[in-house]
Amino acid sequence: MLVQEKQTTARTQAENDQIRLSLRSRYDELSAEYEQAVLQSQVLRLVEVGDTAGDDQADSGTKTAERDTAQSLLRTILDRRSQFEHALARLDEGTYGFCEGCTAPIPVERLEIFPSATSCVGCKQTRERRAA
Ligand SMILES: [Zn+2]
Repeated sequence: MLVQEKQTTARTQAENDQIRLSLRSRYDELSAEYEQAVLQSQVLRLVEVGDTAGDDQADSGTKTAERDTAQSLLRTILDRRSQFEHALARLDEGTYGFCEGCTAPIPVERLEIFPSATSCVGCKQTRERRAA
C-alpha cells in the first residue's frame, strides 16, 4: 500500500496511472452506453416508420416523447463522455486535479465523487451563473 498523501499536488506515477485507468474505464462505459442508446433510438425510429398508419394521436405523442427522451439521453452521454475525455487530456498534461478557473488544487473528496471535474466548486458555480 502506498502512503496516502494529503496533497493532490504530489501525485505519484502510480496514482496517475490509477486515475487514468478509472477515467478510461468510465469513458469506455459511456461509449458502450452511447452505442446502446443509438441502437435504441434507431429502434424507435423504425417502429415509428413501420406503424404510423394505425396510430391515434395519443400514441404518436408518446412516440415523439420517447424520441425526445432518447435524443436528450444521447446528448447527455456525449457530454459526460467528453468531460472524461477532457479530464484524461488534462491528466496527460499534468494539470488534472487543478481548477481550470483559478488553478487551485481541486479537493480530493470532490475528485472522488466527480473524477471528471476540471474546476473547483466555486468556479463551477460562477460559470453556471454566467451561463444562466
Ligand atoms: Zn477554481
